[in-house]
Amino acid sequence: MENLASVWQEAAAQLEDTLPETKKQWIKRISFEKEEDGRLVLSLSSDFYREMTEKNCRADIENTVSEIAGRDVAIDFIVDRSKKTVQKAPARTARKEKTETASKNTTLNKQYSFDNFISGDNSSFAFNACKVIAQNPGTSFNPCLIYGGVGLGKTHLLESIGNYIDEHNPKMKIIYTTAESFTNEFIDSLLSKERISSFKAKYRNVDVLLIDDIHFLQKKDSTQEELFHTFNELYDSHKQIVLTCDRPITELTDITDRLKTRFRKGLNVDLQPPAYETRVAIAMQKCKEKGYTMDQNVLEYICQNVNTNVRDLEGALTTLSSFATLVGKPVTLDIAKEQLKNFIVAPAIRNTDITVDMIIHSTASYFNLKEYDIRGKSRNKNITLARHISIYLASELTSYSLSEIGKMMNGKDHTTIMYSVEKIKSILDTDESVKQAVETIKAELLQ
Ligand code: ADP
Ligand code: MG
Repeated sequence: MENLASVWQEAAAQLEDTLPETKKQWIKRISFEKEEDGRLVLSLSSDFYREMTEKNCRADIENTVSEIAGRDVAIDFIVDRSKKTVQKAPARTARKEKTETASKNTTLNKQYSFDNFISGDNSSFAFNACKVIAQNPGTSFNPCLIYGGVGLGKTHLLESIGNYIDEHNPKMKIIYTTAESFTNEFIDSLLSKERISSFKAKYRNVDVLLIDDIHFLQKKDSTQEELFHTFNELYDSHKQIVLTCDRPITELTDITDRLKTRFRKGLNVDLQPPAYETRVAIAMQKCKEKGYTMDQNVLEYICQNVNTNVRDLEGALTTLSSFATLVGKPVTLDIAKEQLKNFIVAPAIRNTDITVDMIIHSTASYFNLKEYDIRGKSRNKNITLARHISIYLASELTSYSLSEIGKMMNGKDHTTIMYSVEKIKSILDTDESVKQAVETIKAELLQ
């Protein structure tokens, strides 16, 4: 019988030559595992890689392998976590090149990496997408937008992409910046022609552009214009662009439509708050990193109660650990409860995952209306009430300002929004049917 190990070697080489880059990236990660009852068993280092390979390349692999073997060969994919991703350049060469070009990508903060990011159900899609981008900059998922509430790891992932590329592709020029610094730098550059052209050259000559917190660009018209051109130039020459934002693109106000359209191209991934088990894993990792010793039941208490975001979780750990250092003894559960009073406020009702779109959708379906009725101008009594309720819920459940909500409701002004909010507040306690509507819609949204 043919030797399937060498059949695979030949097939892999052939596939790498012929498949498009989007498929090739998965082939590179496959290892030959064994031959079993005439079947070819191939392995990948994670579930994510296995799924992506099966989905994207199974047919190509089967065809090529069968053709080379001269018979139909059945293929199994398994996960072998001990297998590291096959990298093209050996690590040593990469490190050597790095020292030669050491001070190049100085905008990156080295403390963030994929290795110290704990991924759970809330973040695995974003995490895996970011890794794929880092491994193949400019080829898959371009541009990519990571969005989510504060303290959920957007900056951590963005910087990790930069650090990974800097380590593995040291020749690549990477810029990490925040939308705020980009804006300030742009404004400064307006002072002279030379500065403008060096600003443009700086941002248009990178291989990887990472911009954090693009919601900051709202209302900054000329900066948006500048970014639009930078974006197009990089995008057209297949340079990688990754952005973060505190909300989905559809909810950005005061950003030109053409820029929003650019941001929405490619891949948009969201980060959700971590579940309890993930919070425990993160807390343990942070304690290890920072050298905190924490009793298991104290740690569990913190993770059960601090459930807003990872930044708060870190804050709680730091508070308790500093307390322990100050008093010179370990933190007990009672001390933890006392010290964390300020952290563990009543569960926040404002939920960064609830969007105005979701509120309008739920309200429309509760009242059996169309979403455009609610956004529109109709004076029909039932529609007006539903509209007031949507606006009231948006002010209660999201962190948007009244004028931002107005913009998302087809350009209503601040006073109209305030009127709706006050209107519902004034009848909420006396009108049973309004109360019922508000509570039912709210419960559905918070679920
Ligand atoms: P954001 O940019 O979304 O506001 P950050 O990336 O600044 O949030 O994260 C806040 C803090 O929490 C950082 O110290 C970051 O390292 C940490 N953090 C967030 N998510 C994770 C995670 N999944 N694993 C480990 N640390 C995390
Ligand atoms: Mg951030």
